[in-house]
Order: sequence, then structure tokens, then C-alpha cells
Amino acid sequence: MSMNSQGRPTRIADNAATGGYADTFSGSRGLDQAETLIFERGATDRCGVDLPEPKGTALRMGGLERHGEIGLPGLSEPETMRHYVRLSRKNYAIDLGLYPLGSCTMKHNPRLNEKVARMPGFADVHPLQPASTVQGAYQLIGELGHWLMTLTGMPAVAMSPKAGAHGEFCGMLAIRAALDARGETHRRRVLVPESAHGTNPATAIQCGFTCDEIPADAGGRVDMEALKAKLGDDIAGIMLTNPNTCGLFERDIREIADLIHEAGGYFYCDGANFNAIVGRVRPGDLGVDAMHINLHKTFSTPHGGGGPGSGPTVLSEALAPFAPVPFVVQEGKSWKMVEQEEGEASESFGRMAAFHGQMGMFTRALTYMMSHGSDGLKQVANDAVLNANYILARLKHVMTPAFAGYCMHEALFDDRFLQGTGVSTLDFAKAMIDEGYHPMTMYFPLVVHGAMLIEPTETESREGLDRFIDTMEALAKAANGGETDRFLAAPVHAPTKRLDETRAARQPVLRWTAPMADEPVAAE
Ligand SMILES: *Cc1c(COP(=O)(O)O)cnc(C)c1O
Repeated sequence: MSMNSQGRPTRIADNAATGGYADTFSGSRGLDQAETLIFERGATDRCGVDLPEPKGTALRMGGLERHGEIGLPGLSEPETMRHYVRLSRKNYAIDLGLYPLGSCTMKHNPRLNEKVARMPGFADVHPLQPASTVQGAYQLIGELGHWLMTLTGMPAVAMSPKAGAHGEFCGMLAIRAALDARGETHRRRVLVPESAHGTNPATAIQCGFTCDEIPADAGGRVDMEALKAKLGDDIAGIMLTNPNTCGLFERDIREIADLIHEAGGYFYCDGANFNAIVGRVRPGDLGVDAMHINLHKTFSTPHGGGGPGSGPTVLSEALAPFAPVPFVVQEGKSWKMVEQEEGEASESFGRMAAFHGQMGMFTRALTYMMSHGSDGLKQVANDAVLNANYILARLKHVMTPAFAGYCMHEALFDDRFLQGTGVSTLDFAKAMIDEGYHPMTMYFPLVVHGAMLIEPTETESREGLDRFIDTMEALAKAANGGETDRFLAAPVHAPTKRLDETRAARQPVLRWTAPMADEPVAAE
């Protein structure tokens, strides 16, 4: 495959499935338009707007103003519009079809959430407005916090963390502050099960802890003997996901909490999988000291492409005094925002973000909670678990479940069913793209060989699940029926074929540089 100077393929590879006409003259396929970078479409000597020079604006830059060209690619409004719409059509989206990414809880984002988030009273507030003019926004933050504490059975919540990983950072900083307040600065070792999400060890290290890995037992849960052997008086705590990333409920969780507390440590629970237990289990009853909640997973707010996430973090009595500023408190009939690390916030570990959190996500999440009610949220957990078990039950005869028994909200398969076929987990996932399905989470958790982690969520219908399962079954049979080429060639129908993913990860090209005069620029 030939590449241009930006490391992007310039030609679509030929393949037999399209009768040798895979290449088109234009690079577009059907009505799916080929798209170049905006820098390659626009030109720096062109401008898309035509405005008169503003009058009477004296320069106030004190000689620091830019004199050279800024170098932005100029395009007209229709050209700009088309560029971004073409790109958006290459994206897969939750509004387009099933999104079975395990551990990500890609559920439907209800339109009602969007309607409420766009109400001017919520959408047009600014964090620097006087408190008296944003009482409703403060109340909304307070109420959402109240329901998060109620659902988790925890006495405090920090609303400002802006993603799950940021919530982990919040919880672990609170643990560190609590240890320091006890004068136990030697406690720096954090236990992390080997099935943990990568953000867990990364957070622990970022907060100045060291990580000690606990192996999984044969059933995919924490190995209790190994855990006991690792306890000691340098323990800061444990970071544990429940249900864990193998899609299984950690049955010994109460005992784990007691052991950690007896050893003088704190229990951080990664709450990313809360969707499986919301309304049914309160983490506070399990002995948890801190847990983040991904509003974009359990509470149906959009997963941004690096965009607005939100990871409120609930805290136990022991950690509550160390919560970050700012936070809202109710005083009589009015609400105030505590901004400074003094008075009731004198032990706060500090500030994690410029303002109070993601208002648009708070509005959507509270709308979701209110429209479901407590019985509806319980039903969410029930249906999420039922859907995953339906997939597990219908596919276990053609694919190989990683562990025996029922699962929680996600079904985990390994690659034993592909043994001897010449097809890998990656090849299988690429063939799913040709079938119109975004692949499941692959090669995670690391404890399972060639892992395929499928999380359907509760928002898929029985018919939708059946169509997906039928396709997966057909693919599994094709792999075992010797159709290896179908997998090695896949994806045949995607705009780009097999990319050099290792190179893309190791040598990402993040910056556009003007190509040399004699170099091919794009897929033309
Ligand atoms: C999604 C996830 C996270 C991280 O959450 P972000 O909001 O993506 O930062 C952490 N742990 C687990 C198990 C997850 O699934």
C-alpha cells in the first residue's frame, strides 16, 4: 500500500471480492466521498469570509501583535461544511447501530436528555456568573450529587472530575491526603488486580504510589490467598473493579474490604461497571471508600471523542474531608459554591479543574435518573445483565466463553474457538466491520488470551441482539470452515483497509507539514 507524506494510504488496495475494480478514479466509493485533510483542501492565501476591517479598534498589543501569516487553510462555508460532514460519515456512532465495546457501556443517549440540556437556563449559564443568578444550576449539581450518594450508599461526592480516569485521580489523591493526615506517609503500595483497566495502575503511579499486581484465580476473580500474602503496613489501599473487567461479580468483596481496612488501607472501587448493579447493590454497603461513576457510561450521557466526560467520585466518611474544591452546599433555601480551601474545606486536597464540572453532562444525567426513577434504574441493571447473558448463552456453542457460568453485564470470550484456523481475534474483529458491526473490545482484559469482550447494554432489543448473534455465529462457522481468506482480507468494504496499527500507535503523525512539490498529496 502506498502512503503519502502524512502516512495515509493513497490508494485503496485491490481485492478479488470487487472483481478487481476496488480502485475508483476519484478515490470515492459509492457515495462515500474520499476526504483529504483540511490543510490539503484549503489554501492559506484564501479566506472563507468577507468582512470589512473593523473601524476604530486601536491596537492594544503593545507591539506583541502577529505580523506574519497565521497559516490557517481558508475554505468557503460550503466547503467547510462538506469537509466535516464527510468526516462525520466515516464515524461509527451509537445512533447508527449496536456498539458492543465491552467495559464502555455504549448505551442509547435519550433525546429527552438533549432537550433538557438545551434549555437556555442550563445551556447558557457561565461559571463566572454571580451565584445569585445561577441558583438553579447549583441546585441541579446538588441534586445530582444527592442521587449519586443515594444510589451508591456513600456520604459524600466530588462533582468536578471530568472523566472516569480523572475520578480515579480524585479518589486516589483523597486517599493519599488521608494517609498523610494520619502521618503515615510510608504507605505507598497499592494493590491492583491483573485484570484491571489500564487507567488504574496509571492513576496510582501518577499519585506517587507504587503498584503491586494481584493475580486472578482460575474463575477470573481476585485470588484471595495471593491478596492476603501481599498485605502489610506499607499498604495504601486497593483499586478494584466490581463487577470486574471479566464481567464477573467479585463475590469476596466484603472480605477484601475488611482485609484492606484491617491492614490500614483504603478501598478504591473503579465504578465504570456500575451499570450492571445500579439500583441493586450499593457500593457503600460493600466497604468502599471511594468510587468514580462515569456519567457517560451508566447515566447515558454522550461519550465524547475526548470530549465532555464526567466522573463524579463518591467518598466515604473517612475520605470526605479531603474532597476537592469547589463543591456546592445548601444553606437554608439558597445554594453556595465553596471555592477556597478554608473553613469546611480546610482539609481539601485542592482543585482538580478550573470550574465546577461538566454542566451539560450533569443536566443529561439527572434527566436520565428522573425519567427512569428508582424502579427504572433497577430495570436498567437487570436488562443489561440479561442481554449479556443472552449473548453468552446463544454464542457459547460456537465461540469459547473465557469462564464458566453466568456473566454480569458483558460476555467474555477467548480465542480458543479460532485455534488452528489461522484467524486471530484481530482478523475476526476486522471481518465484523465488513458485516456492519463495530467490533467488541479486543485483547482486554489482558488475563484472557485473545479476549473478545461484548457488552450489549440494556438498550438493545431482542431482535437487534439476534441479528448480531446470527452474524457472529456465521463468522465463527466461516472461520472454522476454512474461509481464512475472508478474515485475512477484511475489512473489504471499509474506506481504509488494514492499517499499520503498531506504527500508528508508536509513531503517530499528529502534525501536518506541507508536502514537497513532487510528492503525491492525496488519494486522487
Ligand atoms: C471506561 C473505564 C475507565 C476510564 O473511564 P474514562 O471515563 O474513559 O476516563 C476506567 N476503568 C474502567 C474499568 C473503564 O471501563
